[in-house]
Amino acid sequence: MAVKVLHRRELTFWEKLYVPQIVGGLKVTSAHLFRNLFLHAAHRVGRLKHLRASVTSQYPEEPRLLATRFRSRHRLTVREDGTPRCVGCMLCETVCPAKCITIVAGEHPDPNVEKYPVRFDIDLGVCVYCGYCVEVCPEDAIRMDTGILDVAAYSRDAMKLDIHELMDPALRKPVSNCSLKFPHQCRVASGQLKDHRSGTQKVLH
Ligand code: SF4
Ligand code: SF4
Repeated sequence: MAVKVLHRRELTFWEKLYVPQIVGGLKVTSAHLFRNLFLHAAHRVGRLKHLRASVTSQYPEEPRLLATRFRSRHRLTVREDGTPRCVGCMLCETVCPAKCITIVAGEHPDPNVEKYPVRFDIDLGVCVYCGYCVEVCPEDAIRMDTGILDVAAYSRDAMKLDIHELMDPALRKPVSNCSLKFPHQCRVASGQLKDHRSGTQKVLH
């Protein structure tokens, strides 16, 4: 079989300087900049509306609108008395492909409800946001509709949500303020606040 030898073309003097490439890049960027400046100015005075100008989202100051079916951070839905709708059936834990849900079920004081989650953790660092847990739940007890996207943290441990944070997605308050009406366990010790930005625990004053 014949072997075809390819010779790499030598760069010219100007190509070795990279000046033409830099000028070419600046030309493209400048063209976009001035086109958008012109179109936005024209739109302000009601002209050239049929020509679309580029729009930059000022995230996170201006969050983007999410589709209603968008899967964002999880939450546990609650009954009117403030207790979780979850009955500890373990279906979500079983179906989860990432094995990132941990549930410990306890006996519910209400004889009409068999069980409740004593502990319910989701490790968002492992979750693949597939939504299977939401699909499989027979009680509509878990949803992914909080609209919370910024789940980044400085440690793996801080990516784990416990039952407090799942029942109240805005919860960053002492556990002593928790509205859970039954015995439960929590990773966060009483009198401390979980700091979602640094992943550390702060003592409240
Ligand atoms: S979204 Fe998927 S991976 Fe994440 S907790 Fe639910 S089932 Fe598990
Ligand atoms: S969240 Fe739903 S599927 Fe998961 S244990 Fe609770 S009731 Fe069962």
